[in-house]
Amino acid sequence: VKELSRIARGVRASTTMAIDSLYKQMKAEGQDVIGFAAGEPDFNTPDHIKEAAYQAIRDNFTRYTPASGMVELKQAACDRMKADCGVDYTPAQVVIASGAKHMVYLALRALVNPGDEVILPTPAWVSYYELIRIVGGIPVMLPASEEEDFKITPEKLEQAITTQTKAIILNNPSNPTGMVYDAGQLQALADVCVRHDLYIIADEIYYGLLYDGKTFTSIASLGEEVKRRTILVNGVSKSYAMTGWRIGYAMAEPEIAKLMADYVSHSTGSPCSISQRAAMAGLTASQEEVHTMREAFQARRDYMVERMNRIPGVSCIRPEGAFYVMMNIQKLIGRTLGGITIRDDNDFATAFLKQGLVAVVPGEGFGAPGFVRWSYATSMENIKEGLDRLDRFLAN
Ligand code: PLP
Repeated sequence: VKELSRIARGVRASTTMAIDSLYKQMKAEGQDVIGFAAGEPDFNTPDHIKEAAYQAIRDNFTRYTPASGMVELKQAACDRMKADCGVDYTPAQVVIASGAKHMVYLALRALVNPGDEVILPTPAWVSYYELIRIVGGIPVMLPASEEEDFKITPEKLEQAITTQTKAIILNNPSNPTGMVYDAGQLQALADVCVRHDLYIIADEIYYGLLYDGKTFTSIASLGEEVKRRTILVNGVSKSYAMTGWRIGYAMAEPEIAKLMADYVSHSTGSPCSISQRAAMAGLTASQEEVHTMREAFQARRDYMVERMNRIPGVSCIRPEGAFYVMMNIQKLIGRTLGGITIRDDNDFATAFLKQGLVAVVPGEGFGAPGFVRWSYATSMENIKEGLDRLDRFLAN
């Protein structure tokens, strides 16, 4: 038999899958497990959005749209970004595709030649690393510690740049850390990118989820020089509880948007017509429900952070956005919990799931060994019970 693709074989399955399948198996067996691993809002898609989808079907709006998305939806995305982030784009600069994840892939496709380096600040969302490799790029990890609030500095960025560096992926607010770069910090990073002529893939999918009344700054709003190097990635999954509808969008210089659109026209083709109508309703109607969801997330974050820091052996810093908390488990290394000797975060996550009946995601896959990620996109009731279980698990 002929060899299968080396590129395809080089893709690593997500390291979070092992815990996830164990969790699902335990749940299927009827065990009383609670999951904190989800990367999606627990809320239902708001009714007015669902109604727009029903209407699209009734209208027989069920055919191909332009491959890079409907012009009306591109305009709606531009209007939303203008209103919320103060950035100006026109529909010719927008590409709509099946989720923000696919937008990151298309952005990398448009920018990266084999052997180009792409800087990836870590901890980082698991998919970026693999996506860079899939397009033939070289991921250059740039770690930021908990003491640094998991944020890179302009000095660190400068040091990581070589003649091969093509781009940086900047995810703000961050999955998995929940950290947010403020306007000043972003400006300093943007200055370095402009000076070295780097492209910025700015994944701002969590832009609507900032807490404590803080306002979000999009890196593309920091001037023309930054903006023309930026591919802004966003979507409706997190802001409107629409993860299953699969609509993401990207905004960039017209030549970059065209490359992405051409690529998508030969791969996935147009995104789901019904979902596009639904996304339009999300982007254009009242943003009331976005605020309600944000308030619920903030209350859960407050509870989780406060409670976690009162449990001996673990700690966390206070995330400012998204819906994740990184729990530091370094003090538990070497201890035996639930009959398992804890050598690392994977051991902890396994023991906590098997014996504590709680699923969290080991940090290693995010480039954050010694941490586990809790998502608070679940009910307050579950959060309270999960932390009670943590307390009992560690007390044993
Ligand atoms: N970007 C980040 C940082 C994410 O955490 C996620 C989902 O977990 C995505 C993108 C994917 O978004 P979408 O559902 O639009 O593909």
